[in-house]
Amino acid sequence: MRADARKRLAVVLGIRPDVIRASLILRYLREDRSVDLRFIWSGQHYSDNLKDIFFRELDVPRADVELGVHGATDAEISAGVIARLYPVLEELRPEAAVFLGDTNTVIGCMAAAQLNIPVVHIEGCMRSYDWRMPEEKYRTISDHLSDRIYAYLEEYRAQGIAEGLNPNRITVVGNPIVDVLDEYYRGRPQRYERLASAAFFAERGLTRGEYYLMTCHRRENVGDHASLSRVLALAGAVARAVYFPASYRTQRMLKEFGLTLPRNVLMVNPVGYDEFLTLLVHSRGTLTDSGTVVEEACILQVASVQMRRATERPQVYDVGASVKFDPSLEQSEATIAGTVEKLERLYGARWKQPFGDGRSSRRIAEDLIARLHGGGLGTHQPDAYHVSVTRSYRDDGLRRSTIALGTSLIGLSCPTS
Ligand code: UDP
Repeated sequence: MRADARKRLAVVLGIRPDVIRASLILRYLREDRSVDLRFIWSGQHYSDNLKDIFFRELDVPRADVELGVHGATDAEISAGVIARLYPVLEELRPEAAVFLGDTNTVIGCMAAAQLNIPVVHIEGCMRSYDWRMPEEKYRTISDHLSDRIYAYLEEYRAQGIAEGLNPNRITVVGNPIVDVLDEYYRGRPQRYERLASAAFFAERGLTRGEYYLMTCHRRENVGDHASLSRVLALAGAVARAVYFPASYRTQRMLKEFGLTLPRNVLMVNPVGYDEFLTLLVHSRGTLTDSGTVVEEACILQVASVQMRRATERPQVYDVGASVKFDPSLEQSEATIAGTVEKLERLYGARWKQPFGDGRSSRRIAEDLIARLHGGGLGTHQPDAYHVSVTRSYRDDGLRRSTIALGTSLIGLSCPTS
């Protein structure tokens, strides 16, 4: 392949679950000689145990560009991502810039849009409808700036359409976390059997199958004294050890609020992926507010309590894999005990995971590559809207087609490519 025939694509990521979820997509894109892949890391996560260990464990090559964005507030971080990404994209001039998820890093899509570089959003159209969450705003913004949205499930696509997004921009692909677990966990049974030695559990003060695994990092939970206290009350009501790799923000907030951990809770720093998956599959269940952990637990047949008012993943309730606990509500001792009891009862239960067939990463990579070569990435064209905008355009060549555009909300005339 001639170097000039290769199509340049920028992929912009920035936090721990991004590396995990995108690991195979990056591999498939990199394997295709027709793609000139430029992987950009925002710097939102930067320590070894939140970043580099995942690159090593999942065989993800280093990023080509490190933006090195840090900041104390969301405003500083998202503004930093836009400011530092802009000149990089300006120089690279990729055919499209790909973003994943709902973090400050995703707000970098503003820089791509400012440069009229088509935006691709993986994990589009997910909504919790909980407007307290920073993530909810980021998803909404990035979906509406996107030229191509990869939604995991049909129901997410329907959510996006209900919000006014152009249906022709949304491709349903399944959730890549299924593929990641197939590849790295199910595909390497010996590695995980070796890891789950008696010494592994003894070193952590745990007995296999006799503990719960907890994660808690969401702003709505850890930034509020009452909510964080209820999370601890739930963990304290469990009659077993609760192993708690806690995010640094959570550790800081616990200190700031002067909250003490219940005696059964063993708090440690965040751990690597191999260690986390080993802890998860040998636990009795997980207490979590993490989007990815609740999916992984469901896929790996581990029961969970979702410690959230609202979720983007209601499917885990539908299949009977998860119990709801809302830390933002007053909780009586009886309700807390009831939640723990429901979780205990789920131990050993089985369900059908609803997230996908394990081919999502492949689908995303193949579709992206086809669009890179087919020229169908930019979809914000005058004829892409659900009202006739042609009368706003003079006959100056901007209009791509002469077709008379309908004004019907349903009869969209956006090309499907
Ligand atoms: N995880 C990990 N070590 C930990 C905690 C989580 O490897 O100490 C993994 C977990 O398996 C999942 C991802 O990190 O794949 C979840 O990250 P997080 O909860 O921060 O993000 P969210 O999914 O809520 O965006």
